[in-house]
Amino acid sequence: ANPIRIGIVGYGNLGRGVEACIGLNPDLQLVGVFTRRSPESVIPLHAHTAVFALDELSTRTTEIDVLILCGGSKNDLPEQSPQLAAQFSLVDSFDTHARIPEHFDAVDATARASATTALISAGWDPGLFSINRVFGEALLPDGASYTFWGRGLSQGHSDAIRRVPGVAGGVQYTVPSDAAIAAVRSGSRPELTTRQKHTRECFVVLEPGADADAVRTAIITMPHYFDDYDTTVTVIDAETLARDHAAMPHGGFVIRSGTTSAGTDQVIEYSLALGSNPEFTASVLVAYARAVHRMNQQGQFGAKTVFDVPPGLLSPKSAAELRAELL
Ligand code: NAP
Repeated sequence: ANPIRIGIVGYGNLGRGVEACIGLNPDLQLVGVFTRRSPESVIPLHAHTAVFALDELSTRTTEIDVLILCGGSKNDLPEQSPQLAAQFSLVDSFDTHARIPEHFDAVDATARASATTALISAGWDPGLFSINRVFGEALLPDGASYTFWGRGLSQGHSDAIRRVPGVAGGVQYTVPSDAAIAAVRSGSRPELTTRQKHTRECFVVLEPGADADAVRTAIITMPHYFDDYDTTVTVIDAETLARDHAAMPHGGFVIRSGTTSAGTDQVIEYSLALGSNPEFTASVLVAYARAVHRMNQQGQFGAKTVFDVPPGLLSPKSAAELRAELL
């Protein structure tokens, strides 16, 4: 079979992860990286990876089967996904949960009109965790679901704080509450507020002359990202940021605690322990790109989410191989 031809749009942490991951999947072929910056200024991991200007994409519609969008959720994807779905099937990792319905509608309109297949909000959360929340609710209707994240560095939230005026650099860690986790595992089905489950820790480097209080206020009041949490903002210098905050670990778990008859408790737990959040997210996007290409060939057009993708389509193996080896 011909390899599935992939284009990477946007080359940051996630873009680099996708480049690395495609090398682990022999049925996929990387056409190149497409960037808004000057292509000469972007240095890929592999010398043989081609880098193009984003504007060149429209001249390469016949050379690419699926685009993997690696831009930020706050400003890049709301613009790029609906626009590029007019010419390409694609996968994005849009992770602003509260805005997923409107993002879906915007992408669906252009994808349907153009007979493309556009999977939004893939990754691990949203993504694999979302699937496990659906399993939990469907399998244990009498129960309660809980998602905990971290301790880990959140790319989406770090991206958001770096766009605050006066911020030169920064990272955000999501920290789950040990007490909340213990309560959930006990099976007592506690009612926990967003604020009780996690705290958020921000470490920022200020631009010269920036007002630390104004930056702090802009961060902790940011809708969807920080306003529902107890957030601390610590100002650090650039050397400390580079030395102590360069790794990008993450993880977390989805727990469903339920009851199937009086006195019979059932607990489902799905957990991830990730050495690199962007490399793992990239691995998920790459597997879904394979599924998107197959769905497009089957005539399934429009916006999709992970809920719409049969798991067998993620695998390079055939349905018969999967039945024989993994069922
Ligand atoms: P990032 O490194 O900040 O990159 C975002 C974009 O910024 C890139 O596509 C790139 O676009 C541009 N960029 C990168 N480096 C640059 C530089 N040195 N100078 C100027 N521009 C630069 O973000 P990321 O860590 O890859 O994360 C991207 C998104 O993934 C996050 O916003 C988050 O929404 C999402 N995510 C989702 C999940 C999930 O589970 N669903 C998990 C993790 C992350 P150009 O090449 O066009 O300039």
